[in-house]
Amino acid sequence: MRAEEIEPQTWLITRGNGQASTHNYLIVGEKKAALIDTGLKAEDLRAFTATLTDKPIIVLHTHGHIDHIGNDQQFEEIMLHPQDFSLFQLHSSAAFRTEFFKGNKAMKWDQDQTDPRQAINQTVKLEPLTEGMIVDLGQRQLKVIENPGHTYGCLSLIEEDRKRIYTGDMICEKGVLLHFAESTDIARYKKSLEHLRSAIAPDYQLYPGHQRMPLSSEWIDAYTECAEELLALGKELTKTNLTEQETHEILFHSKGKATISYTREKILAHEGTSDN
Ligand SMILES: [Zn+2]
Repeated sequence: MRAEEIEPQTWLITRGNGQASTHNYLIVGEKKAALIDTGLKAEDLRAFTATLTDKPIIVLHTHGHIDHIGNDQQFEEIMLHPQDFSLFQLHSSAAFRTEFFKGNKAMKWDQDQTDPRQAINQTVKLEPLTEGMIVDLGQRQLKVIENPGHTYGCLSLIEEDRKRIYTGDMICEKGVLLHFAESTDIARYKKSLEHLRSAIAPDYQLYPGHQRMPLSSEWIDAYTECAEELLALGKELTKTNLTEQETHEILFHSKGKATISYTREKILAHEGTSDN
């Protein structure tokens, strides 16, 4: 684990260089600090953040996936969009975590780390984080904008004073995953991109949950165009002509610098619109 102060009182916490590496951001205000996501593997993240700030820490989740909630048991105040509460419960269960780490050799934990297959404290009290809420840290504020897509409960956190937006997994340099059962269809994701675009000025910087950061807001347009192409493809498809396997097969579509993973089910036009 290492931390880099990417601007005054904003820390980027990272580990390793692998695909599994997730970014956590520590935003320190006058009264308290916000920790955006807590990573994949069990680590002593609380002790680590204590070396960066002595302010009380509130955890704000961009969504409920396993690689964003791994150290929640160390914190008392956890906020997440209610649409991802059940996903959080699933991904913090011992059964799910055991299965996940069995299949991911690249994500093996170091010998000196706690076994990440253990359940995350399931009694942790989740507070709802929803559209328009403002988290006041004292002289710094984060505003919530909902972005269903990658999961139903995906959200971004905007810091208007610094023209920054923390976008989780809704926009990443190497691709956005929308093939999951917990992902919305592509039309809903495109709406989220448009909502995001209207919420910020073009000179905002995007801080994603993985890979290169920051990204320019042009990436919102790139993903919007990619989603539009996918929706056009979907219009050509008719549900009744697809086999079960074709409906759920994981596919990738790239346009410009954007890549989206999807299944045909996610791009099919609604019933009645695909026939004409
Ligand atoms: Zn995710």
